[in-house]
Amino acid sequence: MDTFSKREASKREARNLRAEIYNVNGRMRMPIDVHQMARDLNIEIVEKSLPDNVAGFILKEATDEFPTIYVNSEDGPQRQRFTIAHELGHYVRERTKEQLAYVDNRDELASTGVDSEERWCNAFAAELIMPEASVKKYWAEGWSFEKIRTRLNVSKAALTNRLASLRLI
Ligand SMILES: [Zn+2]
Repeated sequence: MDTFSKREASKREARNLRAEIYNVNGRMRMPIDVHQMARDLNIEIVEKSLPDNVAGFILKEATDEFPTIYVNSEDGPQRQRFTIAHELGHYVRERTKEQLAYVDNRDELASTGVDSEERWCNAFAAELIMPEASVKKYWAEGWSFEKIRTRLNVSKAALTNRLASLRLI
């Protein structure tokens, strides 16, 4: 797959997961509740003291029925939300696998990551918690950066990356 198709695929998967878990009455409530999504997928989220450079990881051993997502307990809720969304991306890509283990360093969750798996998960996470349609709508309605950020409950860095990737800034 070329890069464009991969990005499209990650967006589609994010939309599918949102629809599957979230659009109970055909309505999306913001911010997207990634904790609820994980619960609905039987994925436990554990806050854990981790090295500074590690944002989180997802682990499913052969003996586990479902994976567990670990997030760095030193991170604020907004960073944790993006990490959880990213780890859900790893899960969605490899749902059927018996084992799953990804450790995510901070630089991999930044937009500069080069690994294609990680880029896929970042694009997935961005679409999951900052839906393109919603961001474009807010932007077109003239919402301020802070108002959009508050509605989506994301970090400044995450929203800046998102606006740039949607070519709005
Ligand atoms: Zn990752």
